[in-house]
Amino acid sequence: MLDRNKALVVFSGGQDSTTCLYWAKTQWPDVHAITFRYGQRHVCEVDIARELAAEAGVPITILDIPFVSQLSTGCSLTDDSIKMDSEKPADTPPNTFVPGRNLFFLSIAAVHAREKGIMNIVTGVSQTDFSGYPDCRDSFIRSLNVTLNLAMDEQFVLHTPLMWKDKCETWALADSLGVFDIVRQRTLTCYNGIPGDGCGNCPACHLRRKGLEEYLKMKKEKE
Ligand code: ZN
Repeated sequence: MLDRNKALVVFSGGQDSTTCLYWAKTQWPDVHAITFRYGQRHVCEVDIARELAAEAGVPITILDIPFVSQLSTGCSLTDDSIKMDSEKPADTPPNTFVPGRNLFFLSIAAVHAREKGIMNIVTGVSQTDFSGYPDCRDSFIRSLNVTLNLAMDEQFVLHTPLMWKDKCETWALADSLGVFDIVRQRTLTCYNGIPGDGCGNCPACHLRRKGLEEYLKMKKEKE
């Protein structure tokens, strides 16, 4: 039996999943986190995730799934000899796309959730600032939710609190949860592995900063 009072957050220690972690704590009394070492360039991401989860009082499970990066060549997030696409190409996902990543992450998370009797699974994917990642879209998440339930004869519920939020609205959510400073200073979103405001030059930094500037401007105008 899955417990409806329990949730598992797929957690990377970045802006989005950290915001989701704190959001989850307002929704359910018993929140857990799962983090993957999948061959990403910056393994320090995992240390940051561990620290942030400890600070939030959330137990974390860290799993090694190196096959995710072993399966695909040509991904700049797992192969540092490849230069990152700074913009989305017209007809294919950018080379920062890791094929199957969210499929593997969520499938493994569901097996772990079943083991722990957790009904709710939370992921920070968003279709709004669509970076060209097909596995961040709402249709994929809905489809996978059905598939996971059929695969294990369970009643998991996948939650995507950021699906229709842009980065500005995600900053607003973090602020309303009282964790704006933690998210701004401690999380790692930068593709070059620099926490907080990051390198300022990679696509992830651009998106994050643009949203932050919009949010700070909006907040100032309201004051
Ligand atoms: Zn960066």
